[in-house]
Amino acid sequence: MPPSATDTIVAIATPAGQGGVGVVRLSGPQAPAIAREVAGPLPPPRTVRYARFLDADGSILDDGLLLCFAAPASFTGEDVVELQAHGSPVALQQLVARCIGLGARAAGPGEFSERAFLNGKLDLAQTEAVADLIAASSVAAARAARRSLDGAFSTRAHALAESLTALRVWVEAAIDFPEEEIDFLADAALHARTDALQADVAALIADAERGRRLVDGLHVVIAGAPNAGKSSLLNALAGEERAIVTDIAGTTRDLVRENLRLAGTALTLVDTAGLRDTADAIEAEGVRRARAELERADLVLAVLDAEETAAGVLLREALRDVPRVLWLHNKIDLSGRAAGAEARSDGLHIWMSARTGAGLEHLIAEVQRITGLGDAADGAFSARARHVEALRRADAHVASAASHLRCGDGELAAEELRLAHDALGELTGRVSSDALLGRVFASFCIGK
Ligand code: GDP
Repeated sequence: MPPSATDTIVAIATPAGQGGVGVVRLSGPQAPAIAREVAGPLPPPRTVRYARFLDADGSILDDGLLLCFAAPASFTGEDVVELQAHGSPVALQQLVARCIGLGARAAGPGEFSERAFLNGKLDLAQTEAVADLIAASSVAAARAARRSLDGAFSTRAHALAESLTALRVWVEAAIDFPEEEIDFLADAALHARTDALQADVAALIADAERGRRLVDGLHVVIAGAPNAGKSSLLNALAGEERAIVTDIAGTTRDLVRENLRLAGTALTLVDTAGLRDTADAIEAEGVRRARAELERADLVLAVLDAEETAAGVLLREALRDVPRVLWLHNKIDLSGRAAGAEARSDGLHIWMSARTGAGLEHLIAEVQRITGLGDAADGAFSARARHVEALRRADAHVASAASHLRCGDGELAAEELRLAHDALGELTGRVSSDALLGRVFASFCIGK
């Protein structure tokens, strides 16, 4: 258990702005004493008492409810007092100032959650889930964050760490007792276990990737030649005039034209007019950026014109190695073809019209199927890019451990397994550095 914080922090825990109720939260050893100065005798833990909140000169700042939690049975694991006042930003600020006058310190971003983590109330993945739940932009994202908060992700991470520990014990024993008659490192069961571990890591990466998409929204790139109807499609999806539709083909060299969010999903418009090889340095940079967008996209919507055009051929060429492409044959109101969808070897093709909205339902159904956003009832949990990144490192270390084992090199395998263990530990914060914690909590808001 880390040493408890010696200072007491205070912050407004409710959102900025006016509201019916506003909460000032105190956490730390002096929380009860400070609250007593402001509001008089405290009620027993986990009960409330009506109180007047007084300024230093005895004047009434506000009145409301007092709620106390005694360490360690609180969110932070410390003594916590909540002053539930009216949701007046001015009165709440005065209450905070009064608490600071009595020795509390204004809390930094995420400091309540950080204390909860340091006191062992939540692990790091769960602490992040609190922030993800608060920031959730869809029901699916909120449910997933709730599952992570309940430990769905952490339990999987712990299970992996345990398998890894068992494997390390085996390998280290083989190194420490080389004179044993049995060659432990050559045991087929050891290799089978390593393979199973690799499969488990891969499965968790896939689930964490999905969890990250739920938190961050999908990164969808709409690609196509100028005038294919990208902006019109965006407008049709948004249901309002969000992007600017023009009849004049774009001449800009800045290919990544627009970044915006739509219902919790990040969208980028990419004009593929310039996805051609070029000697021009500026244009080449544009091409590089457009390619990078396409490569990191969760989904590419490739907008083709009704007619087969040179631009369409160029687009197909540009997207040849890009996974998860939906081919959209736009402007069917001009071509006269019926709306519909057809699976082909290069992916799903959809015939539609951004202008009339015909066929859009096929597009929406497919997006929901790909993302799983339409159905989060199957145990999806929230995750972050840093989790996926740590899991990928763990995966790489387990893979090299496996190859060292196949060569009979126990020492190197043991070292790789140790590194994999450290990477897994970063998920829940069992292995954590100040730099990692600083990065995680800096993204939180104050009062959390
Ligand atoms: P972008 O350059 O790819 O973003 O293309 P725009 O969305 O600006 O559209 C170019 C032109 O095609 C505009 O005149 C649009 O009104 C028109 N357009 C886009 N989609 C359709 C469609 O489904 N049917 C018809 N008839 N015209 C469309």
